[in-house]
Amino acid sequence: MSDPWAGRLVIPGAPDGPPAGTTLAETLEGFLGWQAARWPRLARARDALAGVRVWEVPVGRPACRVQWNPDRTLSTTARVDPASVAARPCFLCPGALPEEERGLAFGADAVILANPAPILPDHLVFVARAHVPQAVGAALPLLLAVAATLGGRFSAFYNGPRCGASAPDHLHVQAVRGGVLPAERAAVDGPGPDDRLLVVRPDLTAWSLQGQGRPALAFQGRADRVASALGVAVETLGQLRPDAPEPLLNLLAVGRPQGVLALLFPRAAHRPACFFDEGPARLTVSPGALDMAGEIVAVREEDFQALDGSRVASIFSEVSLDPGRVRALEDALARRLYDG
Ligand SMILES: [Zn+2]
Repeated sequence: MSDPWAGRLVIPGAPDGPPAGTTLAETLEGFLGWQAARWPRLARARDALAGVRVWEVPVGRPACRVQWNPDRTLSTTARVDPASVAARPCFLCPGALPEEERGLAFGADAVILANPAPILPDHLVFVARAHVPQAVGAALPLLLAVAATLGGRFSAFYNGPRCGASAPDHLHVQAVRGGVLPAERAAVDGPGPDDRLLVVRPDLTAWSLQGQGRPALAFQGRADRVASALGVAVETLGQLRPDAPEPLLNLLAVGRPQGVLALLFPRAAHRPACFFDEGPARLTVSPGALDMAGEIVAVREEDFQALDGSRVASIFSEVSLDPGRVRALEDALARRLYDG
């Protein structure tokens, strides 16, 4: 059978391909410019992102940011119930990509694409070559490989199929420019004095960030140790709702000189009640990993104007795991990581 990705993949440094950098991170920056020059929709989106209005809301340290980004309307309001997903062509499969879109191979099983509706600069999507469902077990190795390969130049992230992924039917992780997201900046130097330490070992530190207005667990250390600790965390979180196919969560991972930093945001709901409100209380906010990491996307101007600190805090509290269960998760994790 012919490869459905043939004709979509380009080779860095080839005559008809993007420039080759000395690292993959550098190649990807070149690829985005090359792709934008050949895909007017991406070029317009990149220009629009540069002018996007942003303000800070006093939630967390560093403070969260709210951006007004109407280009995200399709993703934010995407219907992700199984019937709606089954009724549309998969927009991450090569057959349905826009004519101009090209990709780079990432290992044998994934392809790197430009996200045509970026939330932050250098927004990429790493899609599995095969049309297989979005699932944390399959996404974790891909997420950590992306983070470890790209170093700190990019922040990789995962949206669960019921926690922000607008393509729950096709395995993918994403990445944006590194060092920008408030939660990443809060964790990158290791646990702060107010954070709750869960385990400190020579090759792994795990802690729970405090004072951020939403629960977040951090894991820093050797990539394989972080991978297994995240596996334990996902399993422990899953035990809280054994009937669900996978726990509700978002993940963020960034390469560090000594390994990888990963953040896990345990969730209780995909969308806050205000998303479904028919009246003036409606706020079209549908949190995924980037919102949880402190870059909150508002697609309508009235939402952007309305999203102050107290509304953001209340949305975070509604879509996050409740403090009692978070505490139970932390206790269980501390025991299991200490024993392991
Ligand atoms: Zn697909």
